[in-house]
Amino acid sequence: MAVANQKGGVGKTTTAINLATALAALGEKVLILDLDPQGNASTGLGVPRHQRKASVYDVIMGEQPLLDAVMPTALPRLSLVPADADLSGIELELGQAQNRNFRLRDALQALRADHGEERFTYVLIDCPPSLNMLTVNAMTAADAVLVPLQCEFFALEGLTQLMRTVDLVRSGLNPKLEIQGVVLTMYDRRNALSEQVANDVRAHFGEKVYETVIPRNVRVSEAPSFGKPVLIYDLKCAGSQAYVKLARELVVRERARRAAA
Ligand code: ADP
Ligand code: MG
Repeated sequence: MAVANQKGGVGKTTTAINLATALAALGEKVLILDLDPQGNASTGLGVPRHQRKASVYDVIMGEQPLLDAVMPTALPRLSLVPADADLSGIELELGQAQNRNFRLRDALQALRADHGEERFTYVLIDCPPSLNMLTVNAMTAADAVLVPLQCEFFALEGLTQLMRTVDLVRSGLNPKLEIQGVVLTMYDRRNALSEQVANDVRAHFGEKVYETVIPRNVRVSEAPSFGKPVLIYDLKCAGSQAYVKLARELVVRERARRAAA
């Protein structure tokens, strides 16, 4: 699942980390693939730069098999393929190389077969804030896209391009790509604008919008500086509880989606 929105700061990384943690807590086997050169998901999961040996860069460049780049996190059932800054130059490095848009998909094939047992039941790809080659690689590799939308005035702006990119990928590179859902983030119930934005988004996307809304919660923003998902930092806070609820909702939706596919 590609966690994508070309806007920065809308909650992609926060959602990837905490949704992944909640899914792992529910018993799923989860891999986070950090596809942002800034490596925020890697840092937020407590993997400092010097511990990142092989990265998603090496995997996309074909220098390391994916499984060699998978590392455990402090949490059971949650693994990570970290990012590093090299990733920012990859678009130029690959140039017009053949298969440039399929690099990640091809690398992920390594996860599929393991004597009938799935290594991971969910792979979440934390995309960079851009509709660049990396995001296209993520959408080409994914079965579905999860779109975090921040509850602020410009939330819907830019979504046309995002949806156009999804359509483009679907029509050429990955016909099975679906929108898993849209999650409203940083919702502030004291702010009338948040509610208005949420209503607009629901009017526009209908059932694709998850019922669960992620509240703006200071504990959520503090957690990464401790290298911990907020569920570990403060399980009881409203932000953690929302991500647990989102994970439950997503699993139900995903079961139906997988059965239909
Ligand atoms: P993106 O990956 O889309 O750039 P981030 O997940 O890094 O966005 O979030 C941007 C900023 O907002 C970060 O500082 C993060 O800690 C903060 N943030 C995200 N979600 C919440 C939330 N629910 N409550 C408070 N702060 C949040
Ligand atoms: Mg991010």
